[in-house]
Amino acid sequence: MSQSLEKLKAVISLEKKKGCLDTAVIGGLDKFLANWAPEASAGIANRTQLSRFNQFIGAFNYAGSPAAARPAALDRLIEFAEELEAAAKVTVASKLSPESGEPDFTVAESAPKYRRKPVSAKKAATPPVSSLELPVTAFKGVSDATAAKLKKLGIENVRDLLYHFPARHVDYSHTARISSLSPGPDQTIVANVWEVRPTTPGGRRSTEAILGDETGNIRALWFNNPYLARQIKNGDRLVISGRVSAWKGMLVFESPEWEKLEEKELVHTGRLVPVYPLTAGLYPRALRKLMKEVVDGFAPALEDYLPADIKERRRLADLPQSVAQAHFPAHEPSYNAARMRLAFDELFFLQLGVLARKRAWQHSQPAASITADQALLTRFVDSLPFKLTGAQRRSLDEILADLKRTEAMSRLLQGEVGSGKTVVATAAILMAVNAGFQAAFMAPTEILAEQHFCSVTAMLDRLAVQKQQGEHSVSYFGIVPDRPLTVALLIGDAKESGKSAVRDLVRNGGIDLIIGTHALIQKSMKFKRLGMAVIDEQHRFGVEQRQSLRQKGSNPHILVMTATPIPRTLALTLYGDLDLSVIDELPPGRQIIKTRWLKPEQRGSAYAFIKKQLAMKQQAFIVCPLVEESEAVQARAAKAEYESLKMEVFPEYRLGLLHGRLTAAEKDSVMGAFKDGKLDILVSTPVIEVGIDVPNATVMLIESADRFGLSQLHQFRGRVGRGTEQSYCMLLAENPSEIANARLEVIEKTQDGFILAEEDLKLRGPGEFFGTRQSGLPDLKMAKLSDVPILEMAREEATRLFAEDPKLQKPEHRALYKELIRIWPQTGEWS
Ligand code: ADP
Ligand code: MG
Repeated sequence: MSQSLEKLKAVISLEKKKGCLDTAVIGGLDKFLANWAPEASAGIANRTQLSRFNQFIGAFNYAGSPAAARPAALDRLIEFAEELEAAAKVTVASKLSPESGEPDFTVAESAPKYRRKPVSAKKAATPPVSSLELPVTAFKGVSDATAAKLKKLGIENVRDLLYHFPARHVDYSHTARISSLSPGPDQTIVANVWEVRPTTPGGRRSTEAILGDETGNIRALWFNNPYLARQIKNGDRLVISGRVSAWKGMLVFESPEWEKLEEKELVHTGRLVPVYPLTAGLYPRALRKLMKEVVDGFAPALEDYLPADIKERRRLADLPQSVAQAHFPAHEPSYNAARMRLAFDELFFLQLGVLARKRAWQHSQPAASITADQALLTRFVDSLPFKLTGAQRRSLDEILADLKRTEAMSRLLQGEVGSGKTVVATAAILMAVNAGFQAAFMAPTEILAEQHFCSVTAMLDRLAVQKQQGEHSVSYFGIVPDRPLTVALLIGDAKESGKSAVRDLVRNGGIDLIIGTHALIQKSMKFKRLGMAVIDEQHRFGVEQRQSLRQKGSNPHILVMTATPIPRTLALTLYGDLDLSVIDELPPGRQIIKTRWLKPEQRGSAYAFIKKQLAMKQQAFIVCPLVEESEAVQARAAKAEYESLKMEVFPEYRLGLLHGRLTAAEKDSVMGAFKDGKLDILVSTPVIEVGIDVPNATVMLIESADRFGLSQLHQFRGRVGRGTEQSYCMLLAENPSEIANARLEVIEKTQDGFILAEEDLKLRGPGEFFGTRQSGLPDLKMAKLSDVPILEMAREEATRLFAEDPKLQKPEHRALYKELIRIWPQTGEWS
């Protein structure tokens, strides 16, 4: 680094001398730094330092600093560089000692995210700037303005370009004779230019050409492009690809792609031509040309990090070839092979990262082993007014086996609404409490927390020899032999004094089970011996919440519950750091919710049907149309809908409105009123609570049902049918597309959430499936989460590799290790 430091110092001192006007180097200091940084960072071996360096340089904006701030900025820059150089020296020295082990293949939870990783120290012997880090501006024709546009697409260097895959290809590979052309898309000819000239059809300055081959002539017209007349010459031999239209009885190519037929490989015509995602101001032709140059020049040199045995076993194509073929495929089969390889890589790295993260926390601290008291368990199960289903039993066994281990459990319990997850969780909690630990049960909303509190205490009640109701929603049960078992509810509603009394009790061990919302993971919440935590409705809580629960007490066992049916492979991928138990069997006698998809003209009868149910003292949900713009717009639309329903359709009934713009307290109060039967109809945007239990609600009307996914519709539908009365779900769709029609037919016929989820995944991407915000999925460019066979393959190989060489220390895994640490900081915390 010292040489580059000298260079930087020289530039800075000149810049100061010239009065900090950003005139010391041509192009400005920021640009100088962009080129300087990869060279300078070549000497930094330590990952943390590297990322600090990148962050600092990335955030440095000299051109944008006011004149007064510039001298100080320059000083900071020098200081920073010197400090790093000193650190680098220490690192290098320690690396030389034979004892210094390999870097650990674990992922820091807070690993900084950076896009560009400069060359590592190991490569310092080779030229400092790895060719993949070469900035886009190094290419002819890429101006700073173009670079800025590329940056909008996340492209800054060669590697980014190589991994900027086409959205699709157009097939211009079949060459036709002019005489055999007919109107239609994707046609290609090879022809001579007889005549080319500017023209102005409809006043638009355009170019027209007459092209011919041995079978005939055809006209080509390029609208709004007068410049072509200067690029194409009479007598040129061209390849023309595009749409042929009939115009006044004559065939014409409409603004086709064109290319001179030379010795070189075709780029824009006569082949499978890539169509790249663009941004304003980038031209398809220019980008394609750049891509061809980059792919030809750099793809062959890509290092294939995938171990040979995996490639062989899975018959995967080589990386250089795959990247090249993904852009400019020779034919469809080779494109498919390329996509398969690249998709495999994405999913494989995802799995490795997830496995590494799982190990990182599992190894961080041993967890307390909890042994189930079989006698008490039997008593609990026998006390229930029903028999556990086979799936409940199996899940419970899996959980209890986890609790016994000294590695903290991290398990996802998946099961449809009403499949009986809460019972299973309660049994496990009871075992933990009986073994002398505290347990926490966290729900996403206060209403749900209250609901859990009621059902859990009701279950414990049956078991208790004696029960006592204490202050501040604390209940005492005589279940555990030598002391009362205490359960408390902590929600925002309670008085502050009550809450702090409960917190004190939790802290000194006076409470065994605490049920509540996010409040449970706040700093002020301290446990004496937290042994197990249950989190309901996973998708509302992310990794961070799980993390903060883990930090309370000594690495508690964690059970996450979700009612969202997710196909198994997908669940394992998304929540790869969780083990999975599935309750795939509903308790016997569950009713089928009669589902009808109505035609728009049947709206009147839908309202009439709701009134009939209301007359029988039942309640109804009306789900408002999905409005995508924003929550505010959505709320406004819902309000309008609510007003008109109230004034015009249901004037004699009590209606409530629920939307995302209400505060948590307002939402709770509306939901509470509905639950208590003080409202007849709840009009709601799609925010309607998952898991809310209103047994008296028997009918639901979903507006513009065609715009929701199947899984979501199924979730909505699960709000009814919670009681003993027959329940109904009506779907309205104004103008459904063909796909929507197919979907609505599926939901009419199917009650199985897993089947619906699979269907959903087939029809829509995972982003939509989970809602983009919730998924936090890394950017999968080639893989689709519906690629189940590839997913399974990637998971198997990742698991195998992880078992065989967990730290990727074997020489044959060096390249893989390097690639993994390059990729993983980006993928970040997403599950
Ligand atoms: P989930 O949390 O999965 O939505 P719950 O645990 O709340 O489901 O159970 C829903 C309802 O079904 C509760 O009233 C519960 O008492 C009842 N239940 C649970 N398991 C069974 C079973 N095996 N047989 C009959 N009813 C059950
Ligand atoms: Mg539930």
